Amino acid sequence: MKAIRLREGKERSLQRRHPWVFEGSIAKGRADPGETVRVEAHDGRFLAWGAYSPQSSIRVRAWSFIESERIDAAFFARRVRQAVALRARLAVDSDAMRLVHGEADGLPGLVVDRYGDTLVAQFGFAGAERWKDAIADALLAATGCPRLYERSDLNVRKLEGLSELQGWLRGDGATLLPIREHGWALQVDIAQGHKTGTYLDQRDNRQHFAQAVRRFGCAEVLNCYSYTGGFTLAALAGGAARVTSVDSSAPALERSREHVQLNGFDAARHDTADADVNAYLRAALEQGRLFDAIVLDPPKFAHSAAQAERAARAYKDINRLGLMLLKPGGLLFTFSCSGGIGPELFHKIVAGAGIDASVDAAIIGRMAAAPDHPTTLQFPEGDYLTGLALLARG
Ligand code: SAH
Repeated sequence: MKAIRLREGKERSLQRRHPWVFEGSIAKGRADPGETVRVEAHDGRFLAWGAYSPQSSIRVRAWSFIESERIDAAFFARRVRQAVALRARLAVDSDAMRLVHGEADGLPGLVVDRYGDTLVAQFGFAGAERWKDAIADALLAATGCPRLYERSDLNVRKLEGLSELQGWLRGDGATLLPIREHGWALQVDIAQGHKTGTYLDQRDNRQHFAQAVRRFGCAEVLNCYSYTGGFTLAALAGGAARVTSVDSSAPALERSREHVQLNGFDAARHDTADADVNAYLRAALEQGRLFDAIVLDPPKFAHSAAQAERAARAYKDINRLGLMLLKPGGLLFTFSCSGGIGPELFHKIVAGAGIDASVDAAIIGRMAAAPDHPTTLQFPEGDYLTGLALLARG
């Protein structure tokens, strides 16, 4: 077994069971891509078993902090079973859920979503790639699902020296899959859709939105960054008279129209705009339009902590526009999925937007990813999705 020796003082984060070792912490040692290594403190003490990534700045990701644990197919079968067992306890109200959420499930770089009896996996780093076969077998065994589709068409794989891959890993079948969420019917395109097909992390927040639209009697709703219309269905289910879905992806908007029809809502209650949200909001402001409820669920504006400042300005700008477009007493559901923007910073950004918009609002809810996308005590970086539910003063 190859050993990776850390510099003095660099053992602390692994001792706190944080799973990453950065390039600069390593004194000596190297290994092949994905190879299991023993990570040692400067004096040779065992710290963790991990997988080596020669090309990534996160040079090692820990599999286990237990010296007697062997990293083999049985190890991956145990970790996968634990992840699946946690979801069974959560009793998620859908047949689509996240089964493995990377580091939070002790499986760095691995994401697995379940859509009915089809699994979709992303292998995001060299270690997960190396153990792909064992992981695939473990997933089928733990879930009883007959098929597994790979969506490793990820930019991050380039940082790992891995190519982008997509296709059936086990079994085969349809790639457009029907799922149910809060009683709504949705079609998920696991081959062409974003990520593994859809954004399961917002499941509970879509339900909160349906409830808030109903409670506050919101009639005119604007769903920005609507993707395939999850929050649009929520608004219609909550009784909204009219919903506008705005997104820059024409296929996503097409799917949102299908979803409205599939769920039996009158198509006249929904319209779509293929537009850049920022430009759309500015135009709406010029036209003097106002809404009872607005959703702002943008893509990740900050891809690293270094981009947080620029991203903060972009978040502030859309939130300022969103607040200005609310009727007095209106409802705003606003989100960030940038890991570098924590809940406190996001709160500050939206507060700044409120000052610029001259709109005061009460926070009536604080939101995060659904619990099948857990954050763990040791890995706060995993906490990426944050949101505020705001009610403007009447
Ligand atoms: N709210 C959605 C998920 C949104 S994901 C849900 O609940 O499923 C972010 C969406 O923003 C994607 O659909 C992407 O196509 C869209 N998008 C990205 N940049 C955009 C822009 N500048 N203007 C409009 N839409 C954009």
